[in-house]
Order: sequence, then C-alpha cells, then structure tokens
Amino acid sequence: MREQHLLDRAETSVGLVNIAVHGHFYQPPREDPWTSIIPNEEGAAPYANFNEKITAECYRPNAEAGNFDLMSFDMGPTLAYWLEKAHPDVYSRIIEADRPHLRSAGVGNALAQPYNHTILPLSTRRDKQTQILWGLQDFRHRYGHDAHGMWLAETAVDLESLDLLAQSGVTYTILAPWQAANPVDMTEPYLVRLPQGRSITVFFYNDLSGAVSYHDDSTADANSFAAQYQQASINRDKAASSIAQMTVVATDGELYGHHKPWRDKFLSHFLKRSASAYGLEVCSLERYLVAHPAITEVDIRERSSWSCWHGVQRWDVGCHCDGTKTLEQRTWKPALREALECLQADGDTLFEDYAGTVLDNPWQARDDYIALRNGWEASERFWTRHAQPMHHTIESIQMAQNLLEAEYWLQTSLTSCGFFFEDLDRIEPRNTIAAARRAISLLWLATGHDVQRRFVASLQQAKSWRTGRTGADLYRSLPAVPANLLPPQEIIDSDDEHGQGVSPVMSMRTQHPEPHTGRLTSPDLRFRTSTTIWGPLQLTLINHREGAERGYEAGQAAYREGSDTSLEEAMHRYLAAPRYRPRVCAPKMVAEWQAMFLLGWTSHLLEEWKQEAATSESQQQYKTQR
Ligand SMILES: [Zn+2]
Repeated sequence: MREQHLLDRAETSVGLVNIAVHGHFYQPPREDPWTSIIPNEEGAAPYANFNEKITAECYRPNAEAGNFDLMSFDMGPTLAYWLEKAHPDVYSRIIEADRPHLRSAGVGNALAQPYNHTILPLSTRRDKQTQILWGLQDFRHRYGHDAHGMWLAETAVDLESLDLLAQSGVTYTILAPWQAANPVDMTEPYLVRLPQGRSITVFFYNDLSGAVSYHDDSTADANSFAAQYQQASINRDKAASSIAQMTVVATDGELYGHHKPWRDKFLSHFLKRSASAYGLEVCSLERYLVAHPAITEVDIRERSSWSCWHGVQRWDVGCHCDGTKTLEQRTWKPALREALECLQADGDTLFEDYAGTVLDNPWQARDDYIALRNGWEASERFWTRHAQPMHHTIESIQMAQNLLEAEYWLQTSLTSCGFFFEDLDRIEPRNTIAAARRAISLLWLATGHDVQRRFVASLQQAKSWRTGRTGADLYRSLPAVPANLLPPQEIIDSDDEHGQGVSPVMSMRTQHPEPHTGRLTSPDLRFRTSTTIWGPLQLTLINHREGAERGYEAGQAAYREGSDTSLEEAMHRYLAAPRYRPRVCAPKMVAEWQAMFLLGWTSHLLEEWKQEAATSESQQQYKTQR
C-alpha cells in the first residue's frame, strides 16, 4: 500500500536515452561455521581477510562517494550479514541508498539475491524456493520494503526458477544477452511468459559490460567512456524516432575499486557528471519499467549463466571456463558435487523424518527459518507457529532447531563459490566442506545418525590436480572441534565401511498428503525414495560394494525434457550406467504405489546382488582350495 501511495505521487518519467550501471556485490562465505570468525587470510595482507580488504578498497569508498545512490545494485545476504556487524557505517550508507529512490519514484534501486548464492538450475525445486524466499525475507528486513527485482547467482537461470520468482512477487531480473534464445535489442527489457499466465521481465545487459569488466582502457576515463563506448551502444533508430531506450551495464560490484583500482572514482565521475554531459539519463531499472513496461516477448536459454559458455557446467561437471585444460583436471567438480548432494539427500531425509515429528510442516518451517536464525523473529512466535503444541518441550525444540540449522549449512555448502575456480585444493571448496561438516555435526547431535562416514568416503573421489589432496584430506585438515560434536572419527578410517551386521530394514510412511518415503538398508545397499504428490521424486541409491554412490532428483524439469521413459526403465538405465547421471522421468503424478514399487524392485535387486556375492565367494573358496 505504502509503495502504491508513493507511486501515485511519484515522478515516473524517464529520459530518452537511459543508462543503469548495475553492481552485483557478493563475497564467498569465509566465516568458520563453528565460531563465525573469519580466519586470517594471508593473501589479504595488510588486511586480516579479504572481506576487510574489499571493504577498504570497494564497499567503503563507493558508499562514501554516494555511488550506490546512483547505481542499481544487489548485495548478497551473507555479505550484508557480515558487513552490518563488521562495518555498520558502510552497511547503513549502502542500505540507505535505496530510500531516496523509493521516496521520489516509488520504487527502489536495490535488488534481492538468493540467500546462499547457489546455482538455482542445479538445485531442486524445493531448494530454489527456499533460496528465493530467504533472499526476499532478507531484503525486506534490511530495506524495509518488498523486493521487486532479484539478481540470480551467476545469472544462472531456468524457467522453474523464473516462475518461482514470479510466484514470490519478483517482477524482473537481469541476464546476459546470450541467455536469450534469439538475438535481442539490448536497449529494452523483455517479457518471459511463464505457466498459468505469469510472466517476468528480463533486462539483458549490454555488451559494454564485458569491456567494463575486462578492458582496462574502457574505464580509464569517465568522459571518454561516455563519449566512445557508451555512445556506440545507443540504438540510433530509437534515438531518431524519440523512442525511449535503456542500456544496462552489469558487472561484479567489486570491480569498482577492488578488482580494478580507482574505478570507484571512474564510476563516481561517470554517474555524477559524464553521463548527463553526454545526454544520458542515469535511471534505475524499476523506474524505467514503471514508465516503459516490457512488451516484446523472448524465450530464454535454460540452464545458462553469465560466466560459463557451457550453460552451468562450470559448477557441475566442469568445463574450461575456469582455465583448466584437461578433463582429468575437472574430475573433482562432479565428485565434490555428488558428495555434497548425497550428504544433502541424507540430511533432508533425517530432517523430514525427525523434525517432521515436531513441526507441522518441516519444509514450510525451513522457508521461514532465516528470520529465526538471524533474530528477526522472536523464538516464541516461530515455535508457536511451526511446532505442534504437544512438542513444545526443550528436547523437541532443541532437536528441531538443530535440524533446521543443519539445513542452513547444507544450503551454504552448495554455494556456487565452491565450484567456481579451477582446483579443489583452495579456500572456497574447503569452506564448502567445512559448512558440510557443521551440518554433519548438527545431524549427529539431533538424531544420532552418522552421515560423516559416507560423506568422507565420497570426498575421497574428489582430487586436486595441483596437490593430489582429496576432499577427504581437506575434511580431515579442518580445525579440530570437541570430539562429542561429531560422529567418532575412527569410523572414517575403519575397514568396516560396509556396516557389517546391519540387517535389511524396510519402512514406509504413506499418509496423505505427507511425503512418501521408503528406506531399505543392508550391508551392500541403501535405497531411499522420497516423493510428494506434486513434488519431485528423489532417489538415493548407495551400493557400498561397488563403491558407486548416486543421488539425483527427477522433477518437473525432467518432464520438460520430453522423454516418456517409465520409472522402471529409467531405474534400469540408471543402474546400467552408474557413472552416468541420467535424467529420470517419473510419471507426472507420483503416487504411493510408485514408492512401493521402487522398494519392492530394490528388494529384488538386493537379493540378486546377495546371490552374486555368494557365487563369487564360493568361486574364491574353490580357487583357494585348488
Ligand atoms: Zn563453461
């Protein structure tokens, strides 16, 4: 209401030739997950760590120069969280930069961001939703109004993510021009049609952004940037016909002063003087949209991003965008992703099974958890809203809180930063492994289940091509924590990795509309399904004997890929190619019988494997006797 009221009075007209300089401000999470303290980072000297260095070189000078007031910007929630505590003056100056826009135009110049900077097209629908909702709650808390724009991590996009944005009230985002399915006019916003009549506006940033990021000469002088580079990007036909146009220059915000020294001064001069001197109006994205809503429609390239030419492979199977030369150098990426995704599948099941006994709806509670975690919502109110009255006890609440916090660290462990660079043996992957260990601890404390052993065994497959260290080595080199906070360490190195003596267990929970989960465990095999009627089907299969560990999800995205593969056929394909990650197409409505079928089928498979093992054993004995 307040925004509408402001809008009615606002000056919404814009110039003919408009420009928005968008800065994406973000830092990988550097805090130790146990202490929240950032360890000393040698490379940042004379500063204690890179957050401090970048604050001194970029956030503070840009804030003090008033550059945020004239830019369009998004500031990552985890960065904002740190900056608010470490440098409240810089933080306030940035947040306050949004307010004059709201007052004068009825719309702000700040955009939100998914909370943990995860690559949304690589996330499950449920995780996409949590990331978006946490990001929007964070924005509302900090800026005092709802966000209408959201910057996607690495501008990685698919239609499901855009639709979830639209459902959450987000009306626009920014993408790279090559993320459009067909060539676009980079001087106007476009409309992407979404299911059920929804739509979202996309600004495609101008090629000029590449020059700003990579060619030092382009930003050496603000006047010549306005005179040469910017003028070259103007649509002359529109200018001649007096049709309004908008050029968006989007880069990492840290470019201005940190990646490129003195560019904070370039930016200041350009926004305050050069732009208007050369006939350009500095305009925020949403102010432009109020005056000129997008009308031309566009299709987007799904699973594409701004910093990988191979879609989103940079954060998944790996590609040469990170500077690696051979396939072998990249094997750590799928191995690390798989270890983290399997851990997440384990964690999600424990969360659902255990927190599900306390919370009315564990996933809805997770979507709201960031407010409790960051102290924006009183504990009493949160637990009254989410915990069943019979479970308002210290023990139940403590357990549920540990599990919600485990979910938080599982989300953190999947941040894009862990996969962005060329090698495993670096601070960023190490930090994601540290976040995973925090989740392991919380799951252990809450449920007594040891998910550490399997995770560390999986990490063994991820190997640095530079140093030869594996993910397991990195895990073991993390700072020590009190022994009672993690499952017993000796189990990690034990030969008894196959859980000998564990008898097969099958359990099933089938109350509608609860998720259907099934579990089957044995010394050789653990199999689990988890489905909801409309949600994706999640399968996790672990064959300890063959060392193959797979976890994947088949959801709406899989249906769109157009295959009619039956679940049974997909499972066969999956097992036939254990090193391949197939897209499994489940029937559109996943029902109880399917979970039953999967359990029955897996039980059959287990019997087959047992027989194989027995045959192989008798062959061995035969050979020994001979
Ligand atoms: Zn790439």
